[in-house]
Amino acid sequence: MKEFDTIIVGGGLSGSSTALNLSKKGYSVLIIEKEESENIKPCAGGMASSMKKYLPLDIDQSIESKIRNVEFRWKSSDNVVADLSGESPFWIIRREILDKLILNDALKYGSEIVRPAQAEKITQQNKTWLIKCSNKVTYKSKFLVIADGSQSKWAGYFNLGPRKPKFANTIALRLKGLGNIPKDSVRFEFGFVKYGFAWAFPLKDSVNIGLGTFINNKLLENKDLNKKVIKSFGFEDSSFKVVHKKLRIWNGLNKINGERVIAVGDAASLCDPFLAEGIRPSLISSHFAAESIDQCLSRNNNNLNNYSISINNEWGKSMAWGKRIAQIFYRFPKTGYQLGVKRKTAPKRIAQILSGQMNYEDIAMRVIKRLLTKSKD
Ligand SMILES: Cc1cc2nc3c(=O)[nH]c(=O)nc-3n(C[C@H](O)[C@H](O)[C@H](O)COP(=O)(O)OP(=O)(O)OC[C@H]3O[C@@H](n4cnc5c(N)ncnc54)[C@H](O)[C@@H]3O)c2cc1C
Repeated sequence: MKEFDTIIVGGGLSGSSTALNLSKKGYSVLIIEKEESENIKPCAGGMASSMKKYLPLDIDQSIESKIRNVEFRWKSSDNVVADLSGESPFWIIRREILDKLILNDALKYGSEIVRPAQAEKITQQNKTWLIKCSNKVTYKSKFLVIADGSQSKWAGYFNLGPRKPKFANTIALRLKGLGNIPKDSVRFEFGFVKYGFAWAFPLKDSVNIGLGTFINNKLLENKDLNKKVIKSFGFEDSSFKVVHKKLRIWNGLNKINGERVIAVGDAASLCDPFLAEGIRPSLISSHFAAESIDQCLSRNNNNLNNYSISINNEWGKSMAWGKRIAQIFYRFPKTGYQLGVKRKTAPKRIAQILSGQMNYEDIAMRVIKRLLTKSKD
């Protein structure tokens, strides 16, 4: 049996982009994906256009809306609008198209995929990974990438990421038509969902609606609440089918590599604990995973520690502040809305966060500086 340079467990966004980055560098890659075909992912598709730099392909086909402003509301009123000026800094992409484009490009550059096949047992023999799959075949590789998403079985097995993963609970649905959401605007609705918020992100002919709770997850089962939220987005008496998903969110600066193994995307617990943004960390981690594996393969060493350091610097430090902000904001949301969202400078800052120009650490530093200057007065 052929030995691959890298085997990737999971062919979602982060698995496929890692495969693309590695196969473009000339390495042999096998993706093991448990689903037979690409399912529609419960994802609203909001992505900063600045992420283009981590996508080595043309993704125009997947962009459904270019967002010009972001609207925040407290229980359907008291709204705040943030202008997203400049070159369309925020896009709504159709995830099923984006994932397909990336996977097809990875295959075009020589990656292989086996599906449906679930990684069932992973062992090592003389620095070779042996991955036994549900199709009764054992595949071999030098390096291993864990990209099996929020329900990851393998991240914990290899001690990658937090010892106790933390989850947000979400529901997602897609409704035909745009309701009362302008086609170039996204809406965040606070006040209805306890310990969380609801969102409406427009595609060309439909809206991705979601509810997420970041501290307590029982409330999402409430059908009346769901109807109320959906009504607030302008959909009357719509019949809808929801998808429930537990989303693994960032929970501490952790090591997400071991010897010759790396976790990427949701499996690595990288999702933003305040806004549930997961596309950006999936793409960033896929990029750095491929860089680190490339360095090891080209220099014949096994040390992937640079990967965890890069991700913690590029993403984790900001998420540490995101987590603190989330803990305060979602416990005292009304105060948080008044002091955080309704503040004069807030719309500009929010726009900068969504477009990737600023991160939570920058915001926190500004607040601390402001408080220190005030305390000296
Ligand atoms: C409701 C909702 C809305 C969201 N909206 C946004 C948004 O607007 N913007 C944003 O940035 N992020 C959003 N996110 C987050 C984003 O969708 C995720 O962070 C992203 O999909 C993570 O990609 P991934 O490849 O790591 O995981 P996944 O996309 O979950 O892929 C994991 C893959 O691994 C496969 N797999 C699992 N186990 C095995 C196994 N044992 N063997 C083989 N294969 C396996 C699965 O079948 C799957 O294909 C949202 C999430 C939710 C739930």
